[in-house]
Amino acid sequence: NQLADAHVGMDELLVSPLWLDRHASLPLPPELYGPVPARRNSSGVDLAVEAMRAPLLAAHAATTVAAVPEFDAQGAEAAVGAAAAAWRSWNRTPVARRAAVLRHAADALQAELPRFCALLVKEAFKTWGDAVAEVREAVDFLRYYADEAERLMQPVALPGPTGESNELRLTGRGPWVCISPWNFPLAIFLGQVAAALATGNTVLAKPAEQTPAVALEAVRLLHAAGVPAEALQLLHGPGETVGAALVAAPGVAGVVFTGSTQVAKIIHRALAAKDGPIVPLIAETGGINAMLVDSSALPEQVVDAVVQSAFRSAGQRCSALRLLLLHEGIADPVIEMIRGAARELTAGDPALLATDVGPVIDREAFDNIRRHLRRLDSEATRLVAPADAPPGIDNLISPHAYEVPAIDRVSDEIFGPVLQVVRWSGEPQAVIEAVNRLGFGLTLGIQTRIDSRALALAARAHVGNVYVNRNIIGAVVGVQPFGGEGLSGTGPKAGGPHYLLRFCAEQTLTINT
Ligand code: GLU
Repeated sequence: NQLADAHVGMDELLVSPLWLDRHASLPLPPELYGPVPARRNSSGVDLAVEAMRAPLLAAHAATTVAAVPEFDAQGAEAAVGAAAAAWRSWNRTPVARRAAVLRHAADALQAELPRFCALLVKEAFKTWGDAVAEVREAVDFLRYYADEAERLMQPVALPGPTGESNELRLTGRGPWVCISPWNFPLAIFLGQVAAALATGNTVLAKPAEQTPAVALEAVRLLHAAGVPAEALQLLHGPGETVGAALVAAPGVAGVVFTGSTQVAKIIHRALAAKDGPIVPLIAETGGINAMLVDSSALPEQVVDAVVQSAFRSAGQRCSALRLLLLHEGIADPVIEMIRGAARELTAGDPALLATDVGPVIDREAFDNIRRHLRRLDSEATRLVAPADAPPGIDNLISPHAYEVPAIDRVSDEIFGPVLQVVRWSGEPQAVIEAVNRLGFGLTLGIQTRIDSRALALAARAHVGNVYVNRNIIGAVVGVQPFGGEGLSGTGPKAGGPHYLLRFCAEQTLTINT
């Protein structure tokens, strides 16, 4: 019932100045376009809505969101066996029917947007703006993969000599293990699961142990929409035990993973060591994502893009900006403006509408980021000083920025609101080459008013997603297919037209007529 209270508070969202994703393709439901409230406090927050949300706020720190059973890793073989048995009939189900089930789930999720937002705020500490954007992205994934499966899975007639017919057919491969992260516990969880189900596979879903309740609700929704229980099993528990046992179980037809590069490599090795078939892995991992700014760039545009890309979602996106590369001719004023903009951000309780930066996901993440901050405090120049944290909120890290002497001094992805800035001069191509040498390849920002330069630098960069003169986060399903190369992942890109192919087996049928 705390969630029900949060439901009421959603009317405020569109009038709050939060970072609602202006690119998301799904319109907000009409109930969010409420009348502009009359009574507001000095930060523009509607007092009536705040009063209605009070029970949620009070319960926020202490409430148990959900209790879920931990899966016994000993049962992994049996679970995969059940998924393999269920695969026969799910794979034979016409693709139009599978797509209809996913669209049904999308409609239900859209209708339940407020409840899922509340859950994301409570369990994953998302801000309200981020929560709305995530539910919309999850709905987009369900609809997009339903459409794509229908497009791709029609048999294709191919030419051949007289007396022979040739046809290419796509089918599912079998049980897929879907291992998803806590930073998009709904959108990435449902994206992986929907891709596998749409293409006729069955699913063993292992969500991040930090966010089991969101996954539980998402699976309930899919089951209610018509996915058979054995075709989608939800298995909670740590990656080291449950994830590892599922990956190792005989009969797994594929693994899709989003998380760290290190864990992707562990999964890759485990699959390679298995007896039996060669099992495909789709891995989407992190990045040391850069934004190159030349002296022709518009400072206001740069600062807006930097603040969104580095600090939104408390920097807990794999697409987030880690490394800002400022031409020396523009560096000083831009740094000054970033300082000013960062001071305006409110770090605090994610359940409050005025909050821009919520806590990081858990103590381990907090300690890890703090370790990096201590190192940077001794090795680098601090540009943005941490704001005073409001009391009583665990694991809160306010935005930080440091100037470091060179790109090759940045070796780790710091998964939090921490930006490193390097000044450059000379040829921008050389700067991009230095970024390439870091070995990651997820997102890159380019800020310049010289169009030919933007295109030349994009072509030289070994990255999956290049954004010119805007922020570098929030890829939209079907609009900006998302995923990297090198240490950042295997491809194909989520939310893109080639993604589903990797989930399919292809059969060429040649008939002598
Ligand atoms: N697709 C998200 C974005 O463009 C990032 C996904 C992730 O963090 O794994 O911001």
